Amino acid sequence: MNDNIPIKSIRYKTLITFSIFSLFTIVFIWLFQGLYFSTVYEKVKANEIDYIGSTLKEIYTTSPNYQDDYLELSLEKDLGILLFEVTDNNEVVYFNTTRIKDDLSIKKITESFVIYLTGKTEASFKNTDKSGMKIYNYGTVAEIDGKKLYFCVCSTIEPLSSTTKNFGYLLIFISIGVFCSTSIGSYYLSNQFALPIMRMAHKAKQLSKNNLDVKFNSDEYAEVKQLSDTLNYAIDELKKTDNLRKEMLANVSHELKTPLTMIKSYTELIQDISGNDPTKRAEHLKVIHDEADRLEFLINDMMDYSKLESGTMTYQKTTFDLVPILIRFKNSYSDKYKDFTITLDSINEAIIYADQKRIEQVITNLLNNAINYSPTRKEINIKLTKAEENKFKLEIIDHGIGISKENIDKIFERHFRTANAKRTTVGSGIGLNIVKSILNYHGYEYGVSSTEGEGSNFYVYFNEGQNDETN
Ligand code: ADP
Repeated sequence: MNDNIPIKSIRYKTLITFSIFSLFTIVFIWLFQGLYFSTVYEKVKANEIDYIGSTLKEIYTTSPNYQDDYLELSLEKDLGILLFEVTDNNEVVYFNTTRIKDDLSIKKITESFVIYLTGKTEASFKNTDKSGMKIYNYGTVAEIDGKKLYFCVCSTIEPLSSTTKNFGYLLIFISIGVFCSTSIGSYYLSNQFALPIMRMAHKAKQLSKNNLDVKFNSDEYAEVKQLSDTLNYAIDELKKTDNLRKEMLANVSHELKTPLTMIKSYTELIQDISGNDPTKRAEHLKVIHDEADRLEFLINDMMDYSKLESGTMTYQKTTFDLVPILIRFKNSYSDKYKDFTITLDSINEAIIYADQKRIEQVITNLLNNAINYSPTRKEINIKLTKAEENKFKLEIIDHGIGISKENIDKIFERHFRTANAKRTTVGSGIGLNIVKSILNYHGYEYGVSSTEGEGSNFYVYFNEGQNDETN
């Protein structure tokens, strides 16, 4: 364990907070003792005297040896009990355990009780004795067997200096105890909190050195467990991205190499053989042109992908009609892919507010896929209809290889290519991921329905709209 605790660490903060807290507690106890101990002591004592005083009459009437009981009570509770009767012209004392013993003083105190109890059944008052101690007196009066009897209790209500002193000593021990236990407790607690985090920091350091085999497995506290679960999840995602990156690099370099090889060999072919034969030359030049197109397509995909990854893809929205664009696409694809039957079923107008270039990119991607993955039944239908809630539905329907149920959810993910695709077509596996990003940016719904071996239907719902910034 590292004993140099940095000032901003959890351990340091917990230690300091608990220590300050314990100091406050101690100061509070001392202040209480200094300012309120006597008051509280007096109040508690007075309550006790009131209670004992109120029981005296009952003891007198019920106990055969009330004097013994009174004596015991006064010794046990350290108080004086006085029982006297007031006759017409005199006071007769029956029982007295107060410290007042001389007749004159007794007369004085009995007279005080008589005065305080005039017209009442119970009363209490304070006075001071000869030594200046505060005395609390409580009395009740009752007529029993024709006698007017006064049941009285007196006691000092100031804490004795020995009590205060003892309490002072006790306080010193309490203070030391509180301080030590909170310091030890807080040190233990701070370590408990900090250690799992320190362990995780150590592992995170390994992670920062590109070691993706690190596993966070802290489960001491729910919060730390949550953090380690999140980090483990992040590692899994990093691993996936890492694998996908590697796969994509392998894919793309392979895909780049194929058209390049074709271009090179056809250039040599023209140089060596077909240069003077206009028909063959044109045929070979077309191959070179087509392969250059593929290269351009791949490189554009890669550039868009890197823009997406770095978050620098920019969009410029305008209001435009989708229908002429679809007509243009239908015509150019029909020209280019003469072996395909490409049809367009469209409404007359579909005004949307979007980035036209990016939307054309989406359509290009979907049409290229439809062409690429339709090896036998070469029919493609572009369909634009009016949908609910001011939307237009664009569908690009092919009758190609289709997509299996297990792959259909994955095809919009990065770098995903089905095993079929790898064998038959040129592609980087990022086209649909770019489509997804563009459509997500615009907030358009999209999807695909497909049956393996029968064909696919890729659809997009465009929001109808003029210059509406919420689109
Ligand atoms: P690629 O460059 O491989 O075409 P995409 O991201 O455009 O990459 O497509 C991802 C994968 O989805 C393709 O590799 C293919 O397996 C599948 N896919 C896309 N469009 C179709 C389609 N119209 N018919 C069948 N499979 C398709």
